[in-house]
Amino acid sequence: MSILKVARMGHPVLRAKTRPVEKSELKSAAVQRLIDDMIDTMTEYHGVGLAAPQVHEGLRLFVAALDSGEEGEDEDQESEPLTIVNPEITVVGADVVEDWEGCLSIPDIRGRVPRAREVRVRALDRHGDRLELRAHDFSARVIQHETDHLDGILFFDRMKSFASLTFLDEYSRYWRKTTDD
Ligand SMILES: [Zn+2]
Repeated sequence: MSILKVARMGHPVLRAKTRPVEKSELKSAAVQRLIDDMIDTMTEYHGVGLAAPQVHEGLRLFVAALDSGEEGEDEDQESEPLTIVNPEITVVGADVVEDWEGCLSIPDIRGRVPRAREVRVRALDRHGDRLELRAHDFSARVIQHETDHLDGILFFDRMKSFASLTFLDEYSRYWRKTTDD
């Protein structure tokens, strides 16, 4: 297991568009190892998602600690992190929700970001098999945030106003919902 160095805002790799991963490349030991290391890195830094550019790789893939989005799943149950490769996202419906986001590449800052409430994702999983899922609310937010990374977009770019920008300490003190972990 390796913990990878996370690129911070200002590093050009975070602003570059990534390239799709070929199926054969995806199955290579190098990319499989990258995925394992990304999962370890995300876990180490308590992230809920991590995109390849954040670890200096210009590949169109991210990992996320989400449930599979299926109905009826036990929300308390920890599931394996998802690996999403070459995602294409379609917004479902017109609902937009604003909520707090953070980013491992923008440490110790939180801000409120509007996102589509529900999305459909078509992608490949880490084995190169077709993956299709619908996600809503928090999961949909994470997927949109991570997919943005693949296009060189950071959450600041999506904010309607910077008035909510908050350091983590102040977020915990004044804004964090009591129901959060
Ligand atoms: Zn991020």
